[in-house]
Amino acid sequence: AVTGTNGKTTTVGMLESMLTAAGLRTSAVGNVGRPIVEAVLDDVAYDVLAVELSSFQLHWTNSLSLHSAAVLNIAPDHLEWYADPDGWPPGATDPMAAYVADKARIYERAQHSCVYNVADGATMRLVEEADVVEGARAIGFTLGIPGPSMLGVVDDVLVDRAFITQRRDSAVEIAKLADVVPYAPHNVENALAAAALARSFGVPPTAVAEGLQRLRLGDHRIQTIAEVGGVRYVDDSKATNPHAAAASLSAFEHVVWVAGGQAKGTTFDDLVTAVAARLRAVVVFGVDRYVIADALARHAPEVVVNVIESSDHGAMKQAVEWAASRAVPGDVVLLAPGCASKDMFSDYAARGDAFAAAVSALAS
Ligand code: ADP
Repeated sequence: AVTGTNGKTTTVGMLESMLTAAGLRTSAVGNVGRPIVEAVLDDVAYDVLAVELSSFQLHWTNSLSLHSAAVLNIAPDHLEWYADPDGWPPGATDPMAAYVADKARIYERAQHSCVYNVADGATMRLVEEADVVEGARAIGFTLGIPGPSMLGVVDDVLVDRAFITQRRDSAVEIAKLADVVPYAPHNVENALAAAALARSFGVPPTAVAEGLQRLRLGDHRIQTIAEVGGVRYVDDSKATNPHAAAASLSAFEHVVWVAGGQAKGTTFDDLVTAVAARLRAVVVFGVDRYVIADALARHAPEVVVNVIESSDHGAMKQAVEWAASRAVPGDVVLLAPGCASKDMFSDYAARGDAFAAAVSALAS
């Protein structure tokens, strides 16, 4: 199973594809859309399930014991859901701690492998603190060169230095970077986490690569919509919190950023500080537009910002037209809202569709 603030659905899709490539009967279930119970009641006798778990689902578990579990990353999100101290797990002292404590439940009673993100120390600490079945291993994933019991990247190759006997002094190739489509550093992390879970279940290296090659990821996740006048338009409407938007923005060099919506109690100061140098210009809309605009004014006052006050569907068209007027050839106009969508749209997909419609109007 997989949890984390961002990348769950992508990782579970990759995992399902790797397991299938290995000839196993499997299904992606849980928060990804198909309820687990539906798979349990299915006529197919599954060998293994690839499960996405949200913090809300983990909140209500108390006897979960997975074969292997991964926490991809932890960053502030859903803090409004945790506003009431009465709902906090024991020991939690604030909403963020309560959110983290729920994520931590995924490792409890893990039987084989606990997969963590080497770059995110909080995920490693959750493994250290978990009460696992004796013999369960801690397995790291990293975008750098892996140490023993890790998966990582060497040159343009994804390698496994965990599920091999000679891990002290060797590693095995499991895929090429080019197998990760669309390419972005965060998708390489997702691929490594999925590979760690697949390898823990005995999937051979060739099936890891094949699983990635066969996969076509869902829409609205760094999906290129069109190229108009040398400018690329990318829909990452699924970036619904600042951590996701930061990953998305970091994948491109020069960006006109389209952002805004419901911030869910999060802040944008760290994000703006991290990506300021990449920002050509920014257009914001939605109920929490000033949460973003104010962070930009504080940390990147040199960046031109357009605040769109209207919240009808024309707002997206206005935003895209303005973004197009600021972009120069080679730039990316990126919808990575960093916010939930429901103040203006029925969901993130409708927001992405509105962006795509505005881009095609531009193109024609
Ligand atoms: P989730 O199911 O956790 O919401 P998705 O796989 O649907 O995650 O991806 C949502 C968004 O999160 C993506 O569009 C991208 O902006 C961002 N993202 C995906 N993977 C990662 C990651 N490993 N780290 C940071 N951000 C990510």
